[in-house]
Amino acid sequence: MMEEKLNKIKEKALNEHIPIIMDDTLQEIEKRMNQNRPTKILEIGTAVGYSAICFSKFLSNQGFIDTIEKDEQRAKEAEENIKTMNLEGKINIYVGDAVEILPTLNQTYDMIFIDAAKAKYPIFLEESLRMLAPDGILFADNILYKGYVMGDYNKHKQRTAVRKLREYIAKTTENPDLETEILEVGDGLAITKIKKSL
Ligand code: SAH
Ligand code: MG
Repeated sequence: MMEEKLNKIKEKALNEHIPIIMDDTLQEIEKRMNQNRPTKILEIGTAVGYSAICFSKFLSNQGFIDTIEKDEQRAKEAEENIKTMNLEGKINIYVGDAVEILPTLNQTYDMIFIDAAKAKYPIFLEESLRMLAPDGILFADNILYKGYVMGDYNKHKQRTAVRKLREYIAKTTENPDLETEILEVGDGLAITKIKKSL
């Protein structure tokens, strides 16, 4: 029943070319949430709420999701989808640019999912690290951007995005306090944790 409703949301988004999370990326994230149920999730880039709705199944009892979307029309549709799935109160949408909204948040999140403007990933990273719980997990979707990020790709109109994604990878892999894996699922998924000090 709910599964059917969720499938409708997914199909509609795919038909409208809304870049929702890919199945293999979702599976990878779900595997990790299953091992460690998050209480507080932050998502940057709601679109129509598909990924947030999927993540909500893995929340611990008191858990909730804060998610940010700058496109008002999409945020409105996400609100409707959340209602349809009976998840009001579990998923809170902030409507606006995450670059402006993130600095106003002061929570500790067990899981953060970055999935919005690629050129803003380094800013999203900084804000995410400020709010990530010590044993939290940070995901960044589309980190390999159709292979452009690892290629010698420079003469493209998306080169700012590529440069910023490379900067995100450098900052998460070269920081001695962080542990980062880059998986080739979907459009590339970066998974970062804070290293445990002994
Ligand atoms: N996480 C969603 C898909 C998100 S698509 C899912 O898997 O179902 C990326 C979304 O990020 C788009 O809807 C876009 O409007 C939004 N976005 C892009 N830049 C943003 C920004 N700076 N602040 C907030 N939202 C942004
Ligand atoms: Mg994505």
